[in-house]
Amino acid sequence: MFSAVLDATADAVMVTDKTGMIRRVNPAFEKLTGFSLGSLVGTDARELFKDINDPEFCDTLWEDSLPQRHYPQVRSKHADGRAQIHALSVTPISDNGGKPSQFVAVILSDSFQSDAASGESRRVGHDALTGLPDRSILADRVDQSILNAKRVNKSIALLVMGLDRFTLINDALGYAAGDQMLREVAERLSKVIRTSDTAARLDGDKFAVMTPISAIDDSVIVAEKVLNAIKKPFHLKGEEVFVTFSIGISIYPTDGQDFDDLLKDSLSAMQYAKQDGGSQYRFFASEMNAKAKNRLELEKRMRAALVNEEFVLFYQPKVEPKTNRVKGAEALIRWRDPKHGMINPGEFIPVAEETGLIVDIGTWVMRKACFQTKAWQDAGYEPIKMSVNVSSMQFKAKDLLDKVKAALADSGLEAKWLELEITESMLMNDVEGAIARMQAVRDLGCGLSIDDFGTGYSSLSYLGRFPITTLKIDRAFVRDVQENPNTAEIARAIIGLSRGLNLEVVAEGAELKEHIDFLKDNGCDSIQGFFYSKPLEASEFASKLKRLVSV
Ligand code: C2E
Ligand code: MG
Ligand code: MG
Repeated sequence: MFSAVLDATADAVMVTDKTGMIRRVNPAFEKLTGFSLGSLVGTDARELFKDINDPEFCDTLWEDSLPQRHYPQVRSKHADGRAQIHALSVTPISDNGGKPSQFVAVILSDSFQSDAASGESRRVGHDALTGLPDRSILADRVDQSILNAKRVNKSIALLVMGLDRFTLINDALGYAAGDQMLREVAERLSKVIRTSDTAARLDGDKFAVMTPISAIDDSVIVAEKVLNAIKKPFHLKGEEVFVTFSIGISIYPTDGQDFDDLLKDSLSAMQYAKQDGGSQYRFFASEMNAKAKNRLELEKRMRAALVNEEFVLFYQPKVEPKTNRVKGAEALIRWRDPKHGMINPGEFIPVAEETGLIVDIGTWVMRKACFQTKAWQDAGYEPIKMSVNVSSMQFKAKDLLDKVKAALADSGLEAKWLELEITESMLMNDVEGAIARMQAVRDLGCGLSIDDFGTGYSSLSYLGRFPITTLKIDRAFVRDVQENPNTAEIARAIIGLSRGLNLEVVAEGAELKEHIDFLKDNGCDSIQGFFYSKPLEASEFASKLKRLVSV
């Protein structure tokens, strides 16, 4: 167990015998010194410290009469000839007779300090107060990320943030409290960023975050997270203290081509944010601010919409072509906005996904759909299977199963009447994890369908391993089957594939009689599309259900 701990720790650890001969070092130690385990074992540990430290210090290092000792600034040699400065602790380990038989020396991973005065080359610069990367590392990472972004045509956002009225805090509570606050700010920053992001301290009360983005909105999300994290009170000297950030955002490639450009732009945007009262973010490019404002408003209105019950579910029949009977329905959300009228999901689901609001909306959809399906059963209609769309974030949430269970239990709907529609792209990052989650859903007794099949990136080799019940052919393969032999061949192949894998196959987007004929002839189980019906409100759907059954 200790071996495993040694291997995992970020601190560099060395074990010597009582004379100072190295017996063991951990991987962090190899990395730190650049020397391999093999080249270190059996050599004198003093060699690593000789000639660059005070000679007396070297002599006492492995002095066995001393208890545990801690040296805040020690120089050690790197394999490439550099000297590096760090904190070192040496602990004697006693044998049964009480005499030291070994020593454990630990170099703390976050103790590297720059030593500009001595001009020695040093390891990567971390800010001494907060432990965050400093400006020089940030510059490196930004320029490196720009190179990567260039290759894949992506963007990068550089957020620069300054605390509003930080000098007031320093003046009122003293510098020690100010330092403590900066450390905590750094900690909160580190917690809200993703692993692909870099947080750094620039100087004084100025911090920065670099984040690769695929759309402007991504940077807004980071900015909002940072603003929220800082808003929570700080406890300094027994007092609750509140501070806010002003954030300036610049984007590669639109605002600048390298770190220096971006930094300049972000700093100037930050000044605007401060002048406008602080506690907010500003983009360098003014047109971005308008976009961000729209998004923010949409988000606010969506939150209100949940509370005010402005969302409605529409239901689109899935019809069995052989019998013309409605076998199922897909629940499709609409937003009945009092000001703007009916809004389609394409306009708000993507924002709901980015802001995380999709989780609450999705829960509402699931419950509503279950209650409605059960209500129709209770009203004497032939039972149908209800499909609900599940977003990636919902599918990955830890409480997905609890929410499905609760929706079923509270509505009284049997699990077999509920099907979740997921998309291929949600499955591919973490195939094993996805399979486990899918299996858990199946174990509840619910169906599981892959929506928009054929448009994602799933590899056919996985398909056999996914515990799904249904494939839903994307409408792209239905739209022109009547005139495009290639599309027809793909649609036919997907139907055949489903047969082979024992899956139900549903086609979506069937608008024409020709679509229906083709799908029916090729053995498609159910068809959803405007030919049969567009999505309907619950009351309309019920009447459709009756009529179709009686055809
Ligand atoms: P989807 O799951 O692929 O839903 C099918 C979409 O195709 C629906 O659009 C439906 O109205 C439309 N459609 C149905 N038949 C035809 C047809 O014959 N021709 C054409 N051109 N279109 C047809 P809708 O309702 O606008 O939904 C769009 C997307 O929004 C859905 O695609 C789904 O990804 C998402 N969505 C809808 N409701 C929800 C929801 O409750 N939760 C989540 N997470 N996403 C939802
Ligand atoms: Mg769907
Ligand atoms: Mg679909």
